[in-house]
Amino acid sequence: MQKIKSLVEARKEFPTQIKCEEYLARMRWPNGVTCPRCGSKHPTYLKSRRKWQCKCKYQFSVTAGTVFHKTHIDLPRWMMALWLMCHSPKGVSSKQIERELGVTYKTAWYLTHRLRKAMISDRLGVKLSGIVEIDDAVIKSDGSTRWKGGSYVLGMASRHGDIKLALINRLKSEEIRRVVAQNVEYIKAFYTDGHQAYRKMHELGPHQYVVHQKRWVDGEVHVSFVENAWSLFKRSLIGVFHHVSTQYLQDYLDEFAFRYSHRDEKARLMELVLASC
Ligand SMILES: [Zn+2]
Repeated sequence: MQKIKSLVEARKEFPTQIKCEEYLARMRWPNGVTCPRCGSKHPTYLKSRRKWQCKCKYQFSVTAGTVFHKTHIDLPRWMMALWLMCHSPKGVSSKQIERELGVTYKTAWYLTHRLRKAMISDRLGVKLSGIVEIDDAVIKSDGSTRWKGGSYVLGMASRHGDIKLALINRLKSEEIRRVVAQNVEYIKAFYTDGHQAYRKMHELGPHQYVVHQKRWVDGEVHVSFVENAWSLFKRSLIGVFHHVSTQYLQDYLDEFAFRYSHRDEKARLMELVLASC
């Protein structure tokens, strides 16, 4: 697929239900349509029903078994919503989807929620390796800097470019090591600030830290990659989502981590999400 640069171009790329089905079929079966039930490579296309019929008697459409199946939302709108979610650096709210696509808020919420789930499953099982920066932040549901309330989030950023963001209960050494251990492998070094909650990181791998009261960067040792991610995430809470309840915060963190980790491969973003749909 050509790189789509704007919503107008996305509308042209996905104008009709049939065009979208053709696109999804190419994506789903790059080596030719395959029966999901028996794996046969020779199903017959029933043009009038826009389905395939296999020798094993199974009939299937391109959306069978995907999030697009049997929804009342047409595929061009799904694709448009997906394009917006993948290509807005700070994300896109259900309100914006409602306006851009001319759907009800309820539909917009459903679209974003389902697509976010697909983005999240892209992140499952991702492990960070090499040099990994670790830093914490307190995230307020509305992105504000009020002191009271908020949730602790642990940010882990590999210098290869991947990040993971995880809600934690407390900023305690044990909790941090538990969460980090779940998310890393083949560690070359952990870089953190001098907070005492990180003092036992050496139990998981080589650990160096920079004491921020003295300086922010000590040669290679700093946490600026993960700090960049924090500031972008906080701006998206303030500017786009306005309010995210604690219940959904982890989902938003995962959606953000998905976009951030794939920021250098924007042309592939839609395909990556569709692969998880
Ligand atoms: Zn079959």
